[in-house]
Amino acid sequence: MPEHVVIVGSGPAGWAAAIYTSRANLNPLAFEGAVTEDNRLQGTLPLGQLALTTEVENYPGFPAGDLSEYYRTALPSEHHWMIDMHQKEGCSGPELMHLMRQQATNFGTKVVTDDIVEVDFDVHPFKLKSMGGQEIEALSVIIATGARANYLGLPSEEKYKNAGVSACAVCDGALPRFRNKPLVVVGGGDSAVEEADYLSKFASTVYLIHRRDELRASKIMAQRAIDNPKIDIQWNSVVDEILGNDTDGVTGVRLKSTVDESTREVEAGGAFMAIGHTPNTNFLEGKLEMTDKKYLKWTVPFRTNTSVEGVFAAGDVADDYYRQAVTAAGTGCMAALDAERWLAAKGL
Ligand code: NAP
Repeated sequence: MPEHVVIVGSGPAGWAAAIYTSRANLNPLAFEGAVTEDNRLQGTLPLGQLALTTEVENYPGFPAGDLSEYYRTALPSEHHWMIDMHQKEGCSGPELMHLMRQQATNFGTKVVTDDIVEVDFDVHPFKLKSMGGQEIEALSVIIATGARANYLGLPSEEKYKNAGVSACAVCDGALPRFRNKPLVVVGGGDSAVEEADYLSKFASTVYLIHRRDELRASKIMAQRAIDNPKIDIQWNSVVDEILGNDTDGVTGVRLKSTVDESTREVEAGGAFMAIGHTPNTNFLEGKLEMTDKKYLKWTVPFRTNTSVEGVFAAGDVADDYYRQAVTAAGTGCMAALDAERWLAAKGL
């Protein structure tokens, strides 16, 4: 028997789609991704990018801080029992993702810890194949595989991955090799500032390397970097080479000025990349319409339809503009409703 809905991906879009389709009795099957070294290195482990962040400050419903006084004043007295449940600081990314996964499984979502590596959308029921060799037939599919961090593409960067080069400060920043040493973060967006801020708790200094003279990050985040005495912003600079040796791994970076091409070396025990993202759509090449940047195309305005009828897309895999946890969850819900209505209209 084919599955009614197969969901590929396990970030907020995937779990929101799972929660809605399971509550609609569609008995969804979710492929949450495989736990492999390759996936760890490229940041595509189950639970997605949020599992690689610290505090989530902007997901509605999870205000940061000690919430007990908030509950005491905001809730009627019969709900004060909630105060004991929430005597802690806000919510972390991994916590939020585990809660979403739990919420989906509570309603009966079946979860497989594996990657989908092949799809055939020319036939119906659609055919999908997992890395572990499982073959699945599906009446509808929701793609929610998200996006992963970019790297600069330098051979020296590749050489020192796992030896001081990382694209995830939260995963790797607390390792002993990075403690009390100067570190480098590359990029000027919110991610770069967030990573620099996080690393400043462990590092002696964090050099934030940005190719322009103005940060792209939101005003509040940019000010946080400027105000942090341990963050030293190197304006108008790019990393030209990661420096290191086989014993110590990364020992520094060579910077090149974007103004006059001059170079200088900076000592550093690690280099963290925060230069944007690439959607996880390799396995869909030639199967679904994509943008120039390989994001999936939504083909109907205000709907999550892709170029194949019965296949829907949700979250960062189809969105290079908003890229927020709440928008991903929102489009996950939309994809679930779109799939449910499509199946009903087809009598499937
Ligand atoms: P982003 O906003 O696209 O920023 C990427 C940064 O990397 C830019 O500053 C860009 O420089 C730089 N860059 C790109 N390619 C480069 C290269 N080859 N060499 C050197 N620098 C390069 O990506 P992001 O920071 O990951 O943020 C993505 C989205 O997530 C945004 O919407 C952001 O607001 C959101 N986000 C929010 C939070 C939060 O609210 N807590 C945290 C993280 C991310 P230019 O500026 O010159 O283009």
